[in-house]
Amino acid sequence: MAREKKRAIIAGNWKMNKTPSETTALINELKPLVENADCDVIVCVPFVSISAAVEAVKGSNIKVGAQNCHWEQSGAFTGEISAQMLCETGVEYVIIGHSERRQYFGETNKTVNKRMRAALAADLNVIVCVGETLEQRESGVTEEILSEQVKIAFCGIEPSDFDKITVAYEPVWAIGTGKTATSEQANAACAHIRDCIVELYNLRLANDIRIQYGGSMNAANAQQLLDEPDINGGLIGGAALKAADFAKIVEVASAN
Ligand code: PEP
Repeated sequence: MAREKKRAIIAGNWKMNKTPSETTALINELKPLVENADCDVIVCVPFVSISAAVEAVKGSNIKVGAQNCHWEQSGAFTGEISAQMLCETGVEYVIIGHSERRQYFGETNKTVNKRMRAALAADLNVIVCVGETLEQRESGVTEEILSEQVKIAFCGIEPSDFDKITVAYEPVWAIGTGKTATSEQANAACAHIRDCIVELYNLRLANDIRIQYGGSMNAANAQQLLDEPDINGGLIGGAALKAADFAKIVEVASAN
């Protein structure tokens, strides 16, 4: 399929980094560097730093995201945060199904689906993460794994919700490891995810949805990855913690 260029979406996943005061400082450093961005710029911060982030981004083009949400609105779920609670804080985006949640906190394809549905019902924009482990890649089941993750994540999701959904293809072996998928590997996986959407929905929705690459994307490799036709942005971990590095990726995405 020939792809038309879409407005890129660059999101920083700060993971468990930056206290509220550090959040204010990093956003204040970032704001002037990305003020002319011609792409969507999002910072996904720890829960406790959300109010600092929302305050700091006021009047700028940066949007704030969270890194998870629960599927119930309220109740006996100690330590969890609901999508409704996030909305009230001013958060506009939420990452769902990050591989670190799958790996360390028992997240499954089914709970990813439940969280995604709750977030969409609360009118949040969702960045839903999928990706294979090294073992799965080496045993040749990458496409099968991605198909299953996409199929279950999107179960019950209406076409009318698609404008609020971004998929992040994040090969687990490339996250925080300094190993980046080659642009060909990343593009092939993103193209496969698009094919899954064609099968589950239709060609128009598959063409329109934005798919990010995530996994050690940085200022040096962003251009090559973002040049690929099926890659419409990046989910950035480590490099999002340095304003200049993140801004460079935003600059590349804006020029694309
Ligand atoms: C991530 O946390 O989603 C990620 C891609 O991390 P990193 O860029 O550090 O590999």
